[in-house]
Amino acid sequence: MKELKVLIVGQGIAGSSLAFCLLEKGANVTLIDDGFKSSSSLVAAGMWNPLSFKKLTTGWRSSEFVKAAYEFYGKTEQLLGLSFFHTKPLYRIFADQHQANEWDEKSDRMDIREFVRSNFTQKLNHVKAPFGFGVVDVAGWCDIPLYLKTARKYFQEKNILIENRIKFEDIEVDSERAFYRAEEYDYMVFATGWKNNENPFFKHIEIHPNKGQVLQIKLKNAHIEPMLNYGNFLLPMGDDTYKVGATYEFNDPNPLPTEETKQKTLEKLKAVVESEIEVIEHLAGYRPTIPSRKPIVTAHPEFKKLYIFNGFGSKGVLYVPLHAMQLSDALSQ
Ligand SMILES: Cc1cc2nc3c(=O)[nH]c(=O)nc-3n(C[C@H](O)[C@H](O)[C@H](O)COP(=O)(O)OP(=O)(O)OC[C@H]3O[C@@H](n4cnc5c(N)ncnc54)[C@H](O)[C@@H]3O)c2cc1C
Repeated sequence: MKELKVLIVGQGIAGSSLAFCLLEKGANVTLIDDGFKSSSSLVAAGMWNPLSFKKLTTGWRSSEFVKAAYEFYGKTEQLLGLSFFHTKPLYRIFADQHQANEWDEKSDRMDIREFVRSNFTQKLNHVKAPFGFGVVDVAGWCDIPLYLKTARKYFQEKNILIENRIKFEDIEVDSERAFYRAEEYDYMVFATGWKNNENPFFKHIEIHPNKGQVLQIKLKNAHIEPMLNYGNFLLPMGDDTYKVGATYEFNDPNPLPTEETKQKTLEKLKAVVESEIEVIEHLAGYRPTIPSRKPIVTAHPEFKKLYIFNGFGSKGVLYVPLHAMQLSDALSQ
């Protein structure tokens, strides 16, 4: 059987994960990435949680995404010889008694029961939660920078990574065939995140850049073990270090972190955590978002060899593995 040859543009969590799925199937994969220049993945806290707290429901296809995430990241951790996908309980701090009552009522519902713990009364040192917590046991975080930097080394060693910005004028296509610098590929997949509007083949698909800011901080001797959600999140990363965030700032063309957001984030944190705070790092990035809040994985309407793999929004860690598995299956047929 002829070897499948695929060019992937973008080595974020989307492009990297798709590459691993295709390599596992024996495909000949080439990646192109500009050195994470516009990377959303390297800014992300990487938290994953199958619930939506607004209405206290399971998110879209949660069980399937969680199952695929364990399967894919588990395999990839083995291949790369490191651990980057973690399970960690998430404590939702109730803002008032109404939220606490709602949790009690809904947490026994069939769809949610597999993810949450009911009847939870324990207190957490250094955390102010007068109305208590709801606990999501099936949740966690992915150390995306560690995953992607290790994956990059792996791709470099295999000599399948071109470290450069793609020039779209180097691509020649018609309805049947696709060439990059005169080399023919069975498929080209664009996983370029929020920079999609620069891609002449897929700019008809609007990916909205949704800015977010994250702080890395130290909390002196707080030793908070679980992840916290209080509108914002607190993610313990070990060694008294935590990530805090993240904001949602639509239509902000300024790519840099701002002092105003930093102060607001710290104020919100001080309302729930009692500890001395030291800010170590402040990052900003853009989530690649589609109004439907669903990823976009589809072929070009005319040039059938071109695909887009994008729109993972604020849920890249959960959404990418299943979509990568399914796209690699489809391309291999
Ligand atoms: C502040 C913040 C917090 C977040 N927190 C979470 C979270 O807790 N959990 C979660 O699941 N998700 C979170 N996200 C969302 C997550 O980051 C995204 O869903 C995910 O990273 C998207 O990955 P991607 O591979 O599609 O895009 P990217 O990570 O942006 O990757 C695209 C890659 O393509 C490269 N590229 C672009 N154009 C070209 C070109 N022309 N030529 C070559 N290379 C190119 C870019 O430099 C980049 O390396 C957060 C995002 C932000 C900004």
